[in-house]
Amino acid sequence: MPPKKIVTIIGARPQFIKASVVSAALAASDRLTEIVVHTGQHFDANMSDVFFAELGMAPPAYHCDIHGGGHGEMTGRMLTAIEQVLSTEKPDAVMVYGDTNSTLAGALAAIKLHVPVAHVEAGMRSFNMASPEEINRILTDRVARWLFTPNEGAGAHLRREGMAPDHIHMVGDVMFDVALHHGARVGPHDGTLGKLTREHGVQPGAYCLATIHRAENTDNPARLGAIVEALIHVAKDLPVVLPLHPRTRGVLAQQGKLQALAQAVVLLEPLAYLAMVQLEKHAAVIATDSGGVQKEAFFYRVPCVTLRDETEWTELVDAGWNRLAPPVDAASVRKSLFDSLGSTGAAIAPYGDGDATSRIVQQLSSDLN
Ligand code: UDP
Repeated sequence: MPPKKIVTIIGARPQFIKASVVSAALAASDRLTEIVVHTGQHFDANMSDVFFAELGMAPPAYHCDIHGGGHGEMTGRMLTAIEQVLSTEKPDAVMVYGDTNSTLAGALAAIKLHVPVAHVEAGMRSFNMASPEEINRILTDRVARWLFTPNEGAGAHLRREGMAPDHIHMVGDVMFDVALHHGARVGPHDGTLGKLTREHGVQPGAYCLATIHRAENTDNPARLGAIVEALIHVAKDLPVVLPLHPRTRGVLAQQGKLQALAQAVVLLEPLAYLAMVQLEKHAAVIATDSGGVQKEAFFYRVPCVTLRDETEWTELVDAGWNRLAPPVDAASVRKSLFDSLGSTGAAIAPYGDGDATSRIVQQLSSDLN
């Protein structure tokens, strides 16, 4: 029998990272074959190409080159482009990851053509319907045939929403697989951190690593202002390293805040994955609004302060590894960062056994063949 065909839709940085391990497993399978479609949502070389190169992924078979515009426009254009690819390729299943517009467009295009959808990182909920990610997650889960969940809480959300129990597969988190695979590869003294030590005196174990990119922060001048002010204050006592997402850089430049920030903290371009892992692993504390970075902080047992009102990764907050610091004022964010220094959390293992990838490939393989 010829192998069954999976079309994978990816478009954003965290999806390249998650897909890298699954794509490698699919390439090794003789019962499944994969065609990768890059929507173009993230297109800068350091937000896209670098991950394909570093994580050993083949270039995508299709590149739709769609980015920018409003959410509706972007999602709509992706829907059109993906529909064309699916009509040509006639896959047996479509695989989507996480919670971006590329995820939703891939799921919708597939289900309208009656192609079953596999959703990796299904069932996550922040219960904030004002966030584009929450809308994308809920709608994608609703149409998916395979709901591959990263933790027990995600499965509980899906069951509560009435999803068929036999569609829910608790496989664990593919990001944990990636972290196990790559985390061991980085030490404290060479590469990006070595350069930061030499050029800026940033010492392993003695800096705050920050990332900011969520619309709820970048599109709200008061919240973004509070984060910037807090980081500038923190940097007086603890070096702050901030690899800046292009969207955040654009907004800060527009608001005239970039210069003051650059004088206080070490501003970097977005980092390749291994450089990011190195900085995460050796940070004293991580301040972030990223979903993936919250988990990676835990994988490397670094305290995390989440610059949001809520998080979908609640188990890390409950266990004490992560604390929420809604960026409503600079003083409270600064306090959370200093309070979390040196803190640890309970011994938990919520993200599976590091074999999410092979479980996903096995399930698809047996259901499709
Ligand atoms: N990341 C990276 N370089 C950076 C910032 C983040 O490689 O400069 C990685 C990070 O380690 C994590 C993923 O990107 O694996 C998280 O992506 P992002 O924060 O863009 O999205 P989210 O997880 O919030 O969906």
